[in-house]
Order: sequence, then C-alpha cells, then structure tokens
Amino acid sequence: MIISAHVGAGALVGTALRRPLPAFAAGFVSHLAMDMVPHWGNGPGLGWIPVARRDGVAGLAAMGVLTAAAPPGRRIAVLAGMTGACLPDTDKIGIYFAGRSPWPRRFDRFHGRIQRESADLLPRDVLVAAMLSVTAAGLLQALGRSRPPRR
Ligand SMILES: [Zn+2]
Repeated sequence: MIISAHVGAGALVGTALRRPLPAFAAGFVSHLAMDMVPHWGNGPGLGWIPVARRDGVAGLAAMGVLTAAAPPGRRIAVLAGMTGACLPDTDKIGIYFAGRSPWPRRFDRFHGRIQRESADLLPRDVLVAAMLSVTAAGLLQALGRSRPPRR
C-alpha cells in the first residue's frame, strides 16, 4: 500500500485513540492490516522508485498538514499514529539507501508474505489515500473547533 494511505489511516487511528502509545501500536497494526488488502505493487526490482518518490513527498506533506490540523490535545497521538502506520515500510528506505532492511529477517519475511499486490491498483490506492487524509483533516478541524473556550 502506498505510504500516503498509511499516513491517512494512522491519523485516523491517532485521532480516535488520543493517547500516543496506543496510537503508535494501533497505527503499526493498521499498516499490516492494510498490506493484506489488495493494493498497488509491481513486484521485485526497483520499478516502484518513481512512484515511491512522489508518494513519499505526498505522505510527508500530509503528515505535516494533519499534524498542524490536530487540536493540541490530540496532536502527539495523531503524529504517533501516523509514525506507527509508516514504520513497517522503513524496510524499503533501508534497502534503497543502505542495502539492507532495519528489521529482523523474520519480520521482513512476514511483511513480504502478507502483501497482496497488483500492478493496476495505483489509481485506487491514490483515491484511498486522499479519502483517508481528507477525512482525517476534516475530523481534526471539527474537533479543534468544538473545543470549549478557554477562560
Ligand atoms: Zn508495508
């Protein structure tokens, strides 16, 4: 699944759970659950790099916007949810830049085995990412507006 979709899901998890540690853990689990759903991927090799560059920039921008949109009382949990949701894919960053994954081989094998990739699902993944991020941003803004006024 593209990282932008994991960012949106992690923001929703953090919004719902409010506390950073549970949000981080649930964000991590959300990543694995989403990887089990059919999603874009084009198999072995580095053919995913051009998409990953754009997706990485979009995901980072979404993290910034969603962190800023979060009311102060939920901001750390939202950031923790997004971080947990993105963490499993640091294997790709490690392999690309350092030639190896930062994860134990056992986890990498598990992470690889659960993938249900298809080369034609990128448009749907982008739509899912946009919907999750827009929903999270709207929810966070609404929560920010509904805070009781300070005295
Ligand atoms: Zn993954």
